Amino acid sequence: MSNIATEPFAAVEIITAKRDRKVLSDPMIDWVIDAYTRGAVADEQMSALLMAILLNGMNANEIARWTQAMINSGERMNWSMLKRPTTDKHSTGGVGDKITLPLAPVVAACGAAVPQLSGRGLGHTGGTLDKLESIPGWRASLSNAEMLAVLDSCGAVICAANASLAPADKKLYALRDVTGTVEAIPLIASSIMSKKIAEGTGALVLDVKTGSGAFMTDPDQARELAHTMVRLGLAAGVKTVALVTAMDVPLGLTAGNALEVRESVEVLAGGGPSDVVELTITLAREMLAAAGMSGTKDPADALKDGSAMDVWRRMIKAQGGDPDAALPVAKHQQQVLATSDGVLANLDALSVGVAAWRLGAGRSRQGESVQAGAGVELFAKPGDLVKKGEPIMTLHTDTPERFERALEALDGGWSIGEKAAPRLPLILDRITE
Ligand code: URA
Repeated sequence: MSNIATEPFAAVEIITAKRDRKVLSDPMIDWVIDAYTRGAVADEQMSALLMAILLNGMNANEIARWTQAMINSGERMNWSMLKRPTTDKHSTGGVGDKITLPLAPVVAACGAAVPQLSGRGLGHTGGTLDKLESIPGWRASLSNAEMLAVLDSCGAVICAANASLAPADKKLYALRDVTGTVEAIPLIASSIMSKKIAEGTGALVLDVKTGSGAFMTDPDQARELAHTMVRLGLAAGVKTVALVTAMDVPLGLTAGNALEVRESVEVLAGGGPSDVVELTITLAREMLAAAGMSGTKDPADALKDGSAMDVWRRMIKAQGGDPDAALPVAKHQQQVLATSDGVLANLDALSVGVAAWRLGAGRSRQGESVQAGAGVELFAKPGDLVKKGEPIMTLHTDTPERFERALEALDGGWSIGEKAAPRLPLILDRITE
């Protein structure tokens, strides 16, 4: 724990300063992040500081310094040896959000390089690595040299961040998760942006979700998070843009690992649900524009002419995966049937996300394994006509004792009426400063 004789600060001074709504100085922030990363500040002290930040906030300078201190805790990657400009996307997470899977190959097929360091799912939102790991043989962990080789040969790489990238954030995120301090805009913004800036991308598009299935259920809070992150990116020299997008209804028609890979491949083959296609193309255009490449091939053409699919296949093979292998299918299925004729009036993203999670698609503790085939497959979206007795959705799991709790999560999460309830537009806002 911090040693008064050798350390410039005592953790308690910093905790009480934030408790008393004071502004933390740059040296205080640099020290507390460094000292926590090397174990000189205890978890209980950092927990108290995080709670004081959640309750009393941080100003723009404090957030920028906190972010920089987290970047400085590890390595900063550099892709200047590549011939193409780099551009990446980060989503704050949602139900059925498989967009990274078609997006990275689409953008690569249009000429930019996409170094996408992704995470695993926790709670009701899925993680990109869990989805890709349902492809037989596919490997998430790559060395920096392997990552560069895949990026150089395929134009895109999706892999796990290694332990030396923003290690302060890894420790802090695990602590926030168990101390009720995840939902603070300064902490979310600095956590996401420290990793994205350390990843070394030249341009970044943020997809900030709002609605029941998102972190930020309130659109104004989502806008504030987006502004905070865009400013952090721009200040660090990364061309950053954010879209605030809808997460009141699941994206596409699947939530669950292998189910979402199947749907992503449909999009890459030129088909797939219209909301997934629209968001993929919109984000791809933003990523290319941010990288200064808007005059190159259009993303919609890369989906139609098979060039995005070619990149996908090469990228999956380069990481040991077999793009032609059959995807895992859960051992048990149960249908949820329409109880009357009419229109599907609503379909709540959070209910579907929790159901998929309870079926085994997600984990409740870090390190738990997930079921590749588990999840929810939808047959109707709000506004679609439904007929009594026909399936609205199919639940998939390897462990049928999970059906009951999944059905409980869906109770009240969908309804049939005369018309669809009002819902958020797919893209609510575009934020550039
Ligand atoms: N994702 C992150 O990486 N960090 C957060 O704090 C929230 C979401």
